[in-house]
Amino acid sequence: MPLRMSSLFVRSLKEDPADAEVASHRLLHRAGYIRRSAPGIYTWLPLGLGVLRRVETVIRQEIERAGSQEVHFPALLPAEPYQESGRWEAFGDLLFSLQDRKENDYLLAPTHEEVFTLLVKDLCGSYKDLPLSLYQIQTKYRDEARPRAGLLRGREFIMKDAYSFDLDDAGLDASYQAMREAYIRIYERLRLPYVIVEATPGAMGGAGTEEFLYPSPVGEDTFVRTAGGYAANVEAVTTVAPEPVDWSDLPAAHVEPTPDTPTIATLVDASNRLQPRQDREWTAADTLKNVVVAVTHANGEREIVVIGLPGDREVDLGRAEGTGRLGEGEIAVEPATEADLAALPQLVKGYIGPGESLDAPFLGLEGGSGLRYLVDPRVAPGTRWVTGANQHGHHVFDLVYGRDFTADGLIEASEVRAGDPAPDGSGPLELARGVEIGQVFKLGTKYAEALGLTVLDENGKSRVVTMGSYGVGVSRVLACIAEEHHDDRGLIWPQHLAPADVHIVATGKDAEVYETAESLTSQLEQQGVRVLYDDRPKTSPGVKFGDAELLGVPTVLVVGRGLKDGSVELRNRADGTSRDVPVADAVQQTVEQVDAGYALAGGTRADFLV
Ligand code: ATP
Ligand code: MG
Repeated sequence: MPLRMSSLFVRSLKEDPADAEVASHRLLHRAGYIRRSAPGIYTWLPLGLGVLRRVETVIRQEIERAGSQEVHFPALLPAEPYQESGRWEAFGDLLFSLQDRKENDYLLAPTHEEVFTLLVKDLCGSYKDLPLSLYQIQTKYRDEARPRAGLLRGREFIMKDAYSFDLDDAGLDASYQAMREAYIRIYERLRLPYVIVEATPGAMGGAGTEEFLYPSPVGEDTFVRTAGGYAANVEAVTTVAPEPVDWSDLPAAHVEPTPDTPTIATLVDASNRLQPRQDREWTAADTLKNVVVAVTHANGEREIVVIGLPGDREVDLGRAEGTGRLGEGEIAVEPATEADLAALPQLVKGYIGPGESLDAPFLGLEGGSGLRYLVDPRVAPGTRWVTGANQHGHHVFDLVYGRDFTADGLIEASEVRAGDPAPDGSGPLELARGVEIGQVFKLGTKYAEALGLTVLDENGKSRVVTMGSYGVGVSRVLACIAEEHHDDRGLIWPQHLAPADVHIVATGKDAEVYETAESLTSQLEQQGVRVLYDDRPKTSPGVKFGDAELLGVPTVLVVGRGLKDGSVELRNRADGTSRDVPVADAVQQTVEQVDAGYALAGGTRADFLV
């Protein structure tokens, strides 16, 4: 059945949504694909659902090709499995939780590792049941602090989540690789550019994980890459630390008055004036800045932590959070407030240092303050610093790490800058932004251990199963496709993902125009081409063309003025071309253009006959 504009449930709008930040949100709203129900929660309208089904089809086909079988879990789940894994607490405020009438705790699942683990535990007991891979396409719930940009960051969103179950590491490696390759095929077939980057495990736990990012300035993730092929989420970049230095020849530490040095620049200046070094000038990178942050743990507890880093760098709170060093699970890290500092009089604002005096350090392991002190990896044994003396108007010079002070550990909390060396030696880093469209994880045995998923091996011995988890943000991916494929006037879907194959626009009042358009519609439909037909008799050509451009079906067939000369106009929004075609050839040429569009994504119309 063709879609007819006269009856289709779509209302194109002139106005952008009030909170529009990005093109995909503006266009999906104005073209009548989605409608906001609440912050970060959207209703799908017919055209939106049409594209969503196609995106899901591509994902299903590739995930199944990788050997995974589809199941479907409830979104509403009991709390117990998540309490057992520790994530009821670790997800913190991100979790939508509720109680039933008997006051039992439930949640709207943000992701489903626990219940997949339990399902397999329920039904599998032998090594013969493995390897196993299961997936679902399902609605997820996360009470995001900052829902934004329409479908890009929702509080309700659609995810494809797959889980692999293996007996050993080699099995997990193979499952992970198969899924990674499926992802590559998915994004290629969806015509979405991607970069694969090293990532940090976050609240998920486990080791070994990569993200697929859609490179775009609208993204919230910063990633780095080098010409030599290194790529990582900025949160996963590790600092190239200096080799430990022998400190036997370094001068002893000494506290000096340093009046009027409120900034790093004034301190560097004063250091070179008052305490010049023999070998070279002091630089900002020789000053040790101690930044006080407040960590809110997943259980709500607040902890003050001091982070030491070279004075020429800022703390990157996202990186600090991502390391897992500050706390497990969903934690929040923010600069300490005035009130926090007021409660810690031993920290002298502007002059905070790792030692109260040289023999009584209060930060770090040996300290009496009880505060954790973590330092940047550049603070390596033997490095020599100028830093606060915890005395107003004073700094300590030639303070050597390992000799004069220590810390409770290292933390990757410094900003990463363009030009920094890549950890794999492949050259200087470039920075760019991207949207996370998928992630593949080697979870290992974390969930299987927490929930008791074991099988008997060939020798009848009980073995803990090792798992992987693999997510694609389906609704986010749809928004990214719109982000990638549009122009000023509207959406331009890749042909195979469009809600129709061809948009027929009949213009004017001539009965013959509508008869011809009607006939082309049915001939095309007979050939299996999906038609969206603008049959509205009283709508002006300008409005119809505007709608066709906004709605974004790439192949447009105009039946109008040219008909008196026996021709119609075949347009291609994807490459901006248009040509007149004799009516008699219109069906064939339209089919050819449509099929060429499918071929661009390496497929045919038959791929979607499901
Ligand atoms: P983010 O860092 O963007 O919050 P995440 O790493 O927490 O995402 P995962 O748990 O890895 O997300 O979920 C798998 C996929 O689901 C992500 O790669 C992303 O594409 C998608 N996704 C996650 N959160 C959202 C959201 N709030 N709205 C839409 N899609 C999302
Ligand atoms: Mg992720």
